[in-house]
Amino acid sequence: MKVLITGGAGFIGSHLAEACLKKGDEVYIIDDFSTGSPDNIRFFQEDERFRDRFFVTEDTILNQDTLLELTGICDVVFHLAAAVGVRYILENPLDAIRINIQGTEKVLEMCSKFKKKVLIASSSEVYGKHLHAPLIETDNIIYGPSSKFRWSYAASKLMDEFTALAYYRTKGLKVIIARLFNTIGPRQTGAYGMVVPRLAEQALKNEDLTVYGDGTQTRTFTDVSDVVRALIALTESEAAVGEVFNVGGTQEITISELAEKIIKATGSSSSVKLIPYNEAYEKDFEDMQRRVPGIEKIRQTVGFEPETDLDSILRRVIDFMAEKMDCVRIEK
Ligand code: UDP
Repeated sequence: MKVLITGGAGFIGSHLAEACLKKGDEVYIIDDFSTGSPDNIRFFQEDERFRDRFFVTEDTILNQDTLLELTGICDVVFHLAAAVGVRYILENPLDAIRINIQGTEKVLEMCSKFKKKVLIASSSEVYGKHLHAPLIETDNIIYGPSSKFRWSYAASKLMDEFTALAYYRTKGLKVIIARLFNTIGPRQTGAYGMVVPRLAEQALKNEDLTVYGDGTQTRTFTDVSDVVRALIALTESEAAVGEVFNVGGTQEITISELAEKIIKATGSSSSVKLIPYNEAYEKDFEDMQRRVPGIEKIRQTVGFEPETDLDSILRRVIDFMAEKMDCVRIEK
């Protein structure tokens, strides 16, 4: 099988590339390295088991010629290239909207041209500011006003979903939409605001752990290897075509509890420091107070079950981070 992964040098994309290579696929990735990193894929480029089946194109998905060539070659497309992280979106609002909306439209157009099945990575952000749990795929959507840019990301991802479903309805394109909940694991960087790598790094440095708001907001974290397994299973299922799926875990935790867990797991002398949202992000920032996926639909359709518990994921993230920080120290 020939697989194209847009955003393949990103955190989730690189883990997906690894899983596809390990199951024998020929893997093509396109990444502009805006938030993806060469470090995430160096291993496959050097490993003799993989390097003859792994092809990297450094370009933006907005470049139609490149996309045309790569989509033509491959059997299935995983579209993961997107602006990532609330902080990145607030700092680069126009780029974020452009890459999410125009980029996805181009990917869909090319997939439609060559009749290639495509999985669109959407986000739990799409649900907006619900307080109930679990969130299910048919729930209504609640956003704040357009003056609050956090919601631009949610709206752009929702537009991606509508566009994909419109291609399915009007052109018969085989699309699958995966709403990814908070995914964590080795290789994720804290540079774009993601809480787990940020807190893990702070704890390893014995610095204060920056918990935003009052720390009572919750998230349900999922190991990247579980997410990758789900994405592959969805593309292998005919029943998944034309459908939207939550992809996530089951262990809900407050961010304060998460910080305490990380302090304990690292044996750090750090304390938790509460930072008001307007200092952490911007004035009048609205967070999502609660975010828990209902996963009955993906369970029923492809038998997906998250396998990795939060403590084991945190252990792997912390070990990865510790090793990376040692490397940095040695290089200096
Ligand atoms: N967060 C935090 N400290 C940080 C980074 C994030 O308390 O240093 C909070 C953030 O406000 C949110 C949660 O952790 O409530 C998850 O943030 P992340 O950016 O990882 O993902 P989100 O769910 O917001 O997309």
